[in-house]
Amino acid sequence: MTILTNTDRAYDKALRKIVTRSRTQGAGVEKSVRTILKAVERGGDRAVLRYTKKFDRLALKLDHMRVTPEEIKEAYYHIRKDEGDSLRYAAERVRQFHERQRTKTWMYQEQNATLGQMVTPLDAVGVYVPGGKAVYPSSVLMCAIPAKVAGVRRIVMCTPTPKGEINPYLLVAADIAGVDEIYRVGGVQAIGAMAFGTKTIAKVDKIVGPGNIFVATAKRLLYGTVGIDMVAGPSELLVVADDDAKPAHVAADLLCEAEHDEDAQVYLVTTSASLAKEVVRLIQVQLKGLQREKIAAKSIARHFAAFVVPTMDEAIEVANAIAPEHLTLSVDRPFDYLEQVRHAGALFLGRYTPPAVADYVAGPNHVLPTGATARFFSPLSVNDYVKVSNIVHYTKEELTKAKDHIVRLAHIEGFDAHAKSAQSRFA
Ligand code: NAD
Repeated sequence: MTILTNTDRAYDKALRKIVTRSRTQGAGVEKSVRTILKAVERGGDRAVLRYTKKFDRLALKLDHMRVTPEEIKEAYYHIRKDEGDSLRYAAERVRQFHERQRTKTWMYQEQNATLGQMVTPLDAVGVYVPGGKAVYPSSVLMCAIPAKVAGVRRIVMCTPTPKGEINPYLLVAADIAGVDEIYRVGGVQAIGAMAFGTKTIAKVDKIVGPGNIFVATAKRLLYGTVGIDMVAGPSELLVVADDDAKPAHVAADLLCEAEHDEDAQVYLVTTSASLAKEVVRLIQVQLKGLQREKIAAKSIARHFAAFVVPTMDEAIEVANAIAPEHLTLSVDRPFDYLEQVRHAGALFLGRYTPPAVADYVAGPNHVLPTGATARFFSPLSVNDYVKVSNIVHYTKEELTKAKDHIVRLAHIEGFDAHAKSAQSRFA
């Protein structure tokens, strides 16, 4: 764990490594991901089963790949009523938030022309729900509810089941969210199956959802064969803390993202050297006894760094350069800094907004861009499940006015047939 002050020699180098992290992420696994994808494209279900055996150590039978309605019903008996209530509470908040994102078809009249955009939902979407190191019923809600709000007709869900038994919380969450088909396969092979289609899993139009570095790389490589939402890989959090931030809260928030994955990346940027020191000490204290202590400890040891800067303005600049998935502003007047923040998947403002609020119940989506892709990707939203078609209607009068311009521009580009298609109406 390093604490670096901006006068330190190593400061720039350490920061640059984090800022440019997207260039190296996935590079090491790309070759093996390509091999699996090619095998699934050629071999379909058989390849999916083979890799499920290899990576999840599960000898899955073809007729057991899809989860049955009886299994979904059964799942309700395996969870407590209050747990079901919490899932429904979260689902309702997620639905309400995403209802506000709905975009409508629009048109306007311009003299004798009608122009506009028609919004239509995607036909079929594949939701990837991670299941390697943890189960994420919350991700089921985050991915499937916006699809439902958008009007997607077929929502497919894939999740790995290393022990064969699909987690009941995932099934109940999928049922609450309105998922249509569930398959107990995960990893690259599941992404490939949804992208190319197999006998058992019909092709989808777009794949959404977070996953580990293998899953994120598979999605990236398949972009074009299928739509993808974003690169949502291992979790990230950057906490910007002023002198008055509570070190215990900062340490707890950092660990909350570190426990996702050994590859999760968490950072602290602060104006207080003493706070940085105390946070580093408390991370070690709070790590002890966590259920996922080993994973969190590895993530901290591999990636954590604390940067001490002279001013809050500089702290925000560091945050912009890193473009983290999650950005916490642990300061008294967080809204004062909002305009300065340019790149972050999600912002958690003030002293009482731990990342867990937004992971579960706040309502905004928790599937967020990682690896500095927050510079150009946005959080998962209803917009990911719709597409837009342009609408153009011209009357004879309007075409008369535009005809000469069309012909001239067509000739500039050397497109005779274009010119003639406009002229033919007046021949
Ligand atoms: P996962 O389902 O993403 O990955 C597990 C699968 O990876 C396995 O089933 C296996 O098929 C495959 N795999 C494992 N080792 C492999 C290898 N050597 N070669 C090829 N494939 C291999 O589940 P996970 O591992 O728990 O990861 C979940 C990830 O999702 C974490 O990194 C977490 O931080 C991230 N996450 C991100 C967001 C976000 O919005 N960005 C949200 C939630 C979770």
